[in-house]
Amino acid sequence: MTHTTDILIIGGGIHGASLAFHLAERGVKATVLERQFIGAGATGRSSGLVRMHYDTEVDARLAWESFQYFRNWKERVGGEAGFTRTGFLQIVAREKEAALRANVEMLQRIGIPTFVITADDVKRLAPSFVTDDFDVAAYEPESGYAMPSDTANALMTTARARGATLVQGCTVRGITLAGGRVTGVDTDQGTFSAPVLVNCTGAWANVVNQMAGVDLPLTTWRHDTMFVVRPPEIGPSHPTVIDFPKELYFRPEGDLTLVGLEDGNPLGESPDNDTDHAQKGFAERAIDRLCERVPAMEKGHLHSAHGGYDGITPDQHPVVGAMGPEGFYVDCGYSGTGF
Ligand SMILES: Cc1cc2nc3c(=O)[nH]c(=O)nc-3n(C[C@H](O)[C@H](O)[C@H](O)COP(=O)(O)OP(=O)(O)OC[C@H]3O[C@@H](n4cnc5c(N)ncnc54)[C@H](O)[C@@H]3O)c2cc1C
Repeated sequence: MTHTTDILIIGGGIHGASLAFHLAERGVKATVLERQFIGAGATGRSSGLVRMHYDTEVDARLAWESFQYFRNWKERVGGEAGFTRTGFLQIVAREKEAALRANVEMLQRIGIPTFVITADDVKRLAPSFVTDDFDVAAYEPESGYAMPSDTANALMTTARARGATLVQGCTVRGITLAGGRVTGVDTDQGTFSAPVLVNCTGAWANVVNQMAGVDLPLTTWRHDTMFVVRPPEIGPSHPTVIDFPKELYFRPEGDLTLVGLEDGNPLGESPDNDTDHAQKGFAERAIDRLCERVPAMEKGHLHSAHGGYDGITPDQHPVVGAMGPEGFYVDCGYSGTGF
């Protein structure tokens, strides 16, 4: 049996769900084909940092636009995104102070609430942090983190209420073309026809691009994270932090702290590798670095660790738009910052 729809979206991560939501808002009924379940890919593994401190204006503007959704989620989307305001700190090495100040000025011109604060200010915000190896940090008082699976599910739920269709457990195996145009897809649940097809398959995007004869310089990026049970000495919470000198980021979640590392993220592996466990040695490296910034974490203990895969491009910016046969669009290559 063939199902006919206006637009087919392949992949039910944050991008497929968000696209279905925004199309539904405009009265376009899309069908999302997801080989597992909503949030099964990078989205379900994402650390969910919600901050505007990006170093290009276009990324910062996009993050600021998204932030308006997070802070008014119930009115704009409905359901829960789990946004928690913790404040966000971007710590930089002494020699990067001028660049940090210039970046904060760029963000302030956009209207983003962010300031340069001193190491003493950081100590007042987070008394358990070591602050003697940097002079300044950028601070966003309104930022924090959200729950990526909840966010994607809320977007998809509202999209469905407005006419979108979700087909889970449905793997796209081929793209059908006629006269240089997309006509639909073959899946393990039959064929679906539509004049427009959007590839939102994250780390798997190359496989789907190849079905359309599209060749992009995309590869995969593995990233591991872990949760540590925070000792009571640190207090009930702490800010969300990107710590450039230590190539580390961390954020609270209840009495846990989530930790990720900016280095040691291998490229080019199969995204179907095991992600239920972190790579060997990751937890030791991450704990060492976390304890350098927050020594009291030595009294904490490991709760869990896992990994995930995203698609990455050479300049680490996504590829969004029409390419290849008429009707084929890509929305992929988010390079670890697609949430
Ligand atoms: C551990 C980790 C932490 C991260 N932390 C952050 C963060 O703090 N902030 C941030 O901004 N970004 C973060 N990222 C990056 C962010 O999570 C991703 O950029 C984003 O989730 C990508 O969303 P997506 O919808 O493009 O892809 P995905 O969420 O990977 O979704 C793609 C979907 O396509 C499906 N699929 C694949 N092939 C097919 C097929 N043939 N047919 C049907 N369906 C198919 C998959 O099952 C999957 O569900 C992190 C990534 C990882 C791995």
